[in-house]
Amino acid sequence: MQTFNYVKPASIDKALASADGAKFIAGGTTLVDLMKLSVEQPKGLVDINLLPLEKIEPLPSGGLRIGAMVRNSDLAWNPEVQKNYAVLSQALLSGASPQLRNMATTGGNLLQRTRCAYFREPNAGTPGGYGCNKRAPGTGCAAMDGYNRMHAVLGTSDQCIATHPSDMCVAMAALEAVIHVEGPKGKRTIPFADFHKLPGNTPHIENALEPGELVTYVELPKPIEGGRSVYLKLRDRASYEFALASAAVVVKVDGGHIRYIRVAMGGVGTKPWRSHEAEAALLGKSVDAAHFKTAAEAALAGAKPRTDNGFKGELARRCLVRSLKLATA
Ligand code: SF4
Repeated sequence: MQTFNYVKPASIDKALASADGAKFIAGGTTLVDLMKLSVEQPKGLVDINLLPLEKIEPLPSGGLRIGAMVRNSDLAWNPEVQKNYAVLSQALLSGASPQLRNMATTGGNLLQRTRCAYFREPNAGTPGGYGCNKRAPGTGCAAMDGYNRMHAVLGTSDQCIATHPSDMCVAMAALEAVIHVEGPKGKRTIPFADFHKLPGNTPHIENALEPGELVTYVELPKPIEGGRSVYLKLRDRASYEFALASAAVVVKVDGGHIRYIRVAMGGVGTKPWRSHEAEAALLGKSVDAAHFKTAAEAALAGAKPRTDNGFKGELARRCLVRSLKLATA
C-alpha cells in the first residue's frame, strides 16, 4: 500500500475543501480492502466520521431523510424503516455480517464496488496482469471468457460484465430513493435510477458523482398507503454472501388487483436493476401466479449469459415470482 495523507474534518465545508484528489472514507469496509489490494491508491483520505450526517429523520412530505453516515445496522433496525420500508430493512440485513453492517454506512453502500475477482487482482489492468477495463480502460475483460459464474446478465457491454454487489441499492431502486450530494459547485439531487451507470464503453465510470462531490443524504419518498414490500435474496450460503439473484418488490393490491408495483433485481445486473418491463406486465393485473411468471419472463428477456452464469436467468425468474407471491400473500 502506498502512503497517503489523512485528514478528519468536522464540517461538510471543510471536508469538501480537502477533497482535491482524495477519497472520502466512512466505514472503510470497501475502500480499505481495495487499498490493501492496490486497486485503490488515493493520494489522500478525508475521514468523514465527524460529519453531522448520522440521523434518520422524518420529512414533512411523509418521507424519510437518511444521513450518509447512518450505519447499515442502525438503518436496518430503525422502527420507521422496519414499519414503512420493510424491503430496505430486509435487504440491509441480508448483506455482509453484523460486524460489517455496524461499520458500513448508507453513503458507502451506494458506492460499493464490484466483487469481480479479476478486478480485485492487484495487477489487473497492467502488463502481465489480467485485462480489466474497469481498472484500466482498453486492457480488455478477463471475465468475459474467464470464470464468470457471479457476473451479470443484464446491462452488460462488450467492455465489462461486472455485477453490482449491493443489496441496499436494489431496495432503494424499488423505493425510488433520491440521492442528495454536495460538491464544489453546490448541492444537487440525483434520482436513484440515474445514480449508477451502465458500463457501456466506460466501465470505469460507475456513478453520477462529479469530482469532489460527497453524498450527504438519501431521501425515501412517502410510503405507499396500503403497500407491502419484500426483499428476497438467493445465494450460495445463508449469510455473509453476495446475491446470485435477488428481488425487491413494492406492491399495493386492491380488490385482488395490483394497483401499484415497483420491481428491482440484484445479483444479475451491472447496476441495481429496476425492471420497468416486469412492472408493466403486472400493473392492473390480478394477483395470479401466471401473471407473476409473465412478469419474470419480461424482466429477464434481455439477459445475456456467458459461459458460467446461464443459470442466473432461471434463478432470477424464480426469485421474482417467489418475492411477488410473498409480497401479495
Ligand atoms: Fe474488469 Fe468488468 Fe471485466 Fe471484471 S467484468 S474483469 S471488472 S472489465
